[in-house]
Amino acid sequence: MFNLPRLLLHSVAMAGNTGAPLLLRLVAASVSVAEKAGTIVRNVFDSGELGVVEKDGKNDLQTQADRSAQECIVQSLSRQFPKVTIIGEEEPTDETVDESHLVTGLSEEVLKAVCPQDLQSVKDEDVVVWVDPLDGTKEYTQGFLDHVTVLIGVAVKGKAVAGVINQPYYNYKAGPGATLGRTMWGIVGLGAFGVERLVPPADKWIVTTTRSHSNKLVTDSIEAMQPDEVLRVGGAGHKVLLVIEGKAHAYVFATPGCKKWDTCAPEAILHALGGRLTDIHGNALQYHKDVKHPNTGGVLATYSDHDWYLSRMPESVKEAVKP
Ligand code: AMP
Ligand code: MG
Ligand code: MG
Repeated sequence: MFNLPRLLLHSVAMAGNTGAPLLLRLVAASVSVAEKAGTIVRNVFDSGELGVVEKDGKNDLQTQADRSAQECIVQSLSRQFPKVTIIGEEEPTDETVDESHLVTGLSEEVLKAVCPQDLQSVKDEDVVVWVDPLDGTKEYTQGFLDHVTVLIGVAVKGKAVAGVINQPYYNYKAGPGATLGRTMWGIVGLGAFGVERLVPPADKWIVTTTRSHSNKLVTDSIEAMQPDEVLRVGGAGHKVLLVIEGKAHAYVFATPGCKKWDTCAPEAILHALGGRLTDIHGNALQYHKDVKHPNTGGVLATYSDHDWYLSRMPESVKEAVKP
């Protein structure tokens, strides 16, 4: 009779593996898929055949890497999670699916994590996955490769709760000995892995913003912050990473243009590490499936002093950039 409880315990542990909560399985699949998408992004670049298409002028581009990485992510996830809503940046193509792009693996590291209590019984219909297969396309075509990220964000009931980011060219300037690329993931209430929070310099005020989508609203708002230095770089994912890793104090983008797939994954990882991402009025961003895609209220991401940045935002900018 002493064997019975041990047997029961064993079977619970097995079920814990295969029957992990939906959210953990989704993040575990997204980690594997994001790694594959990152490989696709590198392979397309190496092939030299970028296949650039202008979606909406020369600052809104799509390449073969955007198309193939999106196929990899959306097809792989939708086959494993057919009832979950998945919204990707790129229009689906009519071409037949390249089966070599599909991934079925689940990250063991994620499956081993303990799902936060409030997310343990999330249902398929509560979830929207926001996919930016390649964030920083303009920079990718220009060879600013470390600006590029693959973003998979998971929203539950309209709130960004989990994110996976692959940075395909992390370390690419570090020489042949360094491991190229990295993947990080996070869940709000649990923490983030594969990336570490670093504190920015105390003697210098650094703000990061867009490099290829600037306008007067962007420059007026940055000027009002009076930073010592402005890092104008590509990609929403990349800029949130600069804030997380202490290279910048804040990411300020006071204009529409950035979309829900740009912010969902970075926001979740930043929040999981204790930071904040809102629009420029301080409103939380919404991620339910019927929400409009553009972040018309702009983006502000910080670790600390979020309210100070909000208070410095000029009235004229706030008038022009409404949620
Ligand atoms: P950036 O900081 O310029 O790299 O922009 C961050 C994300 O928002 C990228 O995915 C951009 O493509 C997108 N984005 C920002 N502004 C615009 C715009 N005016 N038109 C199209 N996409 C934009
Ligand atoms: Mg993007
Ligand atoms: Mg993109």
